[in-house]
Amino acid sequence: MPIDFEVPPEVARTRDQVHALVEEKFRPIARHYDDHEHEVPRDLIREFHRMRDTIPAKRGPATPGGTLGAAIYSEEMAWGDGALMRCLPGPGLGGAAILANGTPEQQRKFLARFQGPEPAFGAMAMTEPGAGSDTASIRTTARRDGDSWVLNGEKVFITSASLALEHTNGLVVVWAKVVSPGASPDEVRHATMRAFVIPAGTPGARIGKVEKKLGVRASNTSSIVLEDCRVPLDHMLGPPEIQEKRAGGFRGAMATFDTMRPIVAAVGLGVARAALERTRELLRQNSIEIRYGLSPARLTAVERDFMELETKVQATRLIIWRACWMGDSKQPNNLEAAIAKAMAGTIVAEVTRRCCEMAGHLGFSKKELLEKYMRDARLTNIAEGTGEIQRLIIARRILGYGRGQLK
Ligand SMILES: Cc1cc2nc3c(=O)[nH]c(=O)nc-3n(C[C@H](O)[C@H](O)[C@H](O)COP(=O)(O)OP(=O)(O)OC[C@H]3O[C@@H](n4cnc5c(N)ncnc54)[C@H](O)[C@@H]3O)c2cc1C
Repeated sequence: MPIDFEVPPEVARTRDQVHALVEEKFRPIARHYDDHEHEVPRDLIREFHRMRDTIPAKRGPATPGGTLGAAIYSEEMAWGDGALMRCLPGPGLGGAAILANGTPEQQRKFLARFQGPEPAFGAMAMTEPGAGSDTASIRTTARRDGDSWVLNGEKVFITSASLALEHTNGLVVVWAKVVSPGASPDEVRHATMRAFVIPAGTPGARIGKVEKKLGVRASNTSSIVLEDCRVPLDHMLGPPEIQEKRAGGFRGAMATFDTMRPIVAAVGLGVARAALERTRELLRQNSIEIRYGLSPARLTAVERDFMELETKVQATRLIIWRACWMGDSKQPNNLEAAIAKAMAGTIVAEVTRRCCEMAGHLGFSKKELLEKYMRDARLTNIAEGTGEIQRLIIARRILGYGRGQLK
C-alpha cells in the first residue's frame, strides 16, 4: 500500500510564502503586542485581509488543502507568532462549526460574510463559567418563540469574541440547549444541544469581561452575555427538527473538535519549532554546534538534549498529519485527533521549557522571545479540550467504554 509523506509542491510553495510573510510581519511586532494586551493590531488585520485569497490566513478545514493543509500552514504561522496568528480575520473556530454542522445553504450564507471587502472574525462559544471540559453540562438555553430562537446564558474565554461581535461584521457560533419555556435545571441538562449563529450587532448579545492572560496575550479572549438574544429560525445550524436524543447536537460539537484538535496541536508545534530554532542560534553564538551523526558517547549533554527535543517535535508532527489525513479522507479520527492533541500539549510544553533552560539567563529575559514561547505554548494543553480530557477520550476509545462508563 503506497504511503506518501511528501508535502505536495503547491502546498510547500504556499507554506514557504507563509513562512516568509510571518517572518517579516509577525516577528518584529510580536513582543509589542505581548506587552500591550488588548491593543488590536489593525494594520496587520487589514493587510492580511487584503491578501486572504493568496495566503491561507484563515484556520480550519476551509483552507485549501483541507485539514492537513490547515495544519501545515498553521504550524508555519505559529512559528511566526502563536498569538498574532490568532488575531487574523477569518471564520476561525466559528467557520469550523458551520462546516461541521450547517446545511450547504447555511454554509454558503454564513461563510459569505468572510468574503466581503471588510475583515470579519468568526468565533465559537462553548465554554461557560461552570462548564468547560464537561461540555454536556452547558446551561445556555435556546427556546423557540414564533419565528425566532431566543438565547440566554453566558460564555467565557471565547477567542476573538469581541472582534467578531463588536469590531467587525463577524459572527459567533454559540452552543445552547434547546428547551421549552420554564425548563428545570434537570430538563436543561438532558436537553438536546445545538449550535446557533449570532451575527455581529444582534440585540441581546454583548461582550462582558475581556481576559488578561498568561500567554497568547495578543489574542482577544472575552466573555459573551446573552440576554433574550433573538435570531431567526434558520440560524440554528443543521436540520430544523430537534431530535429528542441528546447525542444529535453533541455529535456535531464533537465533530468540530475532531477537526480542530490536530490544527490546535499544529499551532503549538509551530511555537515549539520557533523555540528550538532560536535556541540553536543562541547555542551557535556560544560556539556550540549540534553535531549529528556522532555516537551517543561522544555527544555533549546539550547536543543530546537538543536532538531529543527535535525528535519529539518531528514525531508529533507525523501524528498530527495522520489525524488530519484521516479526517480529510472521511475516516473517523476521534482517537487520532485526541492522541495528536494530547501528545502536542505535552511535547510543546516540554520543548519550550527546556529551550528556556538551555538558553540560560536569556531564557528568562524579555530580550528574547523564548519566555513568551513557553507562556504561549501552555494553551496547547487547554484549548479544544485539556490534556486530561484527551487522555480520557483515548482511554474510552481503546477500552471501548462510552461517556457514561468512563468519566
Ligand atoms: C486562551 C483561551 C482561549 C479559549 N478559547 C475558547 C473558545 O474560543 N471557545 C470556547 O468555547 N472555549 C475556549 N476556551 C476555553 C477552553 O476550551 C476551556 O478552558 C477548556 O475546555 C477547559 O475548561 P475549564 O477551563 O472550564 O476547566 P475545567 O473543565 O474546570 O478543568 C479544570 C481541570 O480539571 C481537569 N479535568 C476536568 N474534567 C476532568 C475529568 N473528567 N478527568 C480528569 N481531569 C479532568 C482539566 O483537565 C483541568 O486540568 C479558551 C481557553 C483559553 C485559555
